[in-house]
Amino acid sequence: MADGSAFAMRFPGIGGPGAELGPVAVVERDAEPFLMIDCPPGALDAYRRRYGADPENLYLTHTHLDHVGGMEELFHGTIVAAQADPERRIRLFAAAAIVPSLQARLVCNQFIRAEGRVNFWDAFQLIPVSEGFWLDDYWFRVFESRHMQPAFCFGLQLAGAFVYTGDTRPIPEVLAAVAADGETVFHDCGVEANPAHTGIEDLLREYSPALRSRLVCYHYGSEASAVVLEEHGLTVARSGTPVPLPTPAS
Ligand SMILES: [Zn+2]
Repeated sequence: MADGSAFAMRFPGIGGPGAELGPVAVVERDAEPFLMIDCPPGALDAYRRRYGADPENLYLTHTHLDHVGGMEELFHGTIVAAQADPERRIRLFAAAAIVPSLQARLVCNQFIRAEGRVNFWDAFQLIPVSEGFWLDDYWFRVFESRHMQPAFCFGLQLAGAFVYTGDTRPIPEVLAAVAADGETVFHDCGVEANPAHTGIEDLLREYSPALRSRLVCYHYGSEASAVVLEEHGLTVARSGTPVPLPTPAS
């Protein structure tokens, strides 16, 4: 697996209250987009501006609208090419547990226009995921985060390289298992905690200094909040600045 590729995580959107764009991250491999994570409204435009192309691979953490509200744009942006060539469908990875909710939110309503005689899934190759999935030669492990209700939000790990929590309260017992090999941990964190998201106090209480040194916070909302996080010794992701990742484990 260690083929010499260089990986990085880029955040077109940081997410959180007051953020310009909802949470959307892109795993880059050798400076090329490899896997998009989540799809808020406006994500496709941001992606195209950055890469001059449409995403080929997408992972969805959960079905809150600030994570899937851009799926209609993605559908319309893809369907013509996908109808002409099924190979152009976007590979959409999602935990099997959230597929019923995806179906309910995106398909079983009036979300998609009726003209064109196409189905929502004509634009996507849906790959329901249990423990993880292969993308090229890389195994992406999927794990349950703690967000709102059980089996609702699922984070992502590339062993040795990164952990992406998705929306979550602190999950020290999970990170002990999935972030044990020096991975950079991209963690939901705003200034204040709430029942759905992590706050500064949570990170300081729940995680060791050693783990916090590998944490990169996102979903904090505004630049003013980023500054407050930094004043507490935390590292933040900023849109436009990719975070280089450790080499994936072999
Ligand atoms: Zn959420």
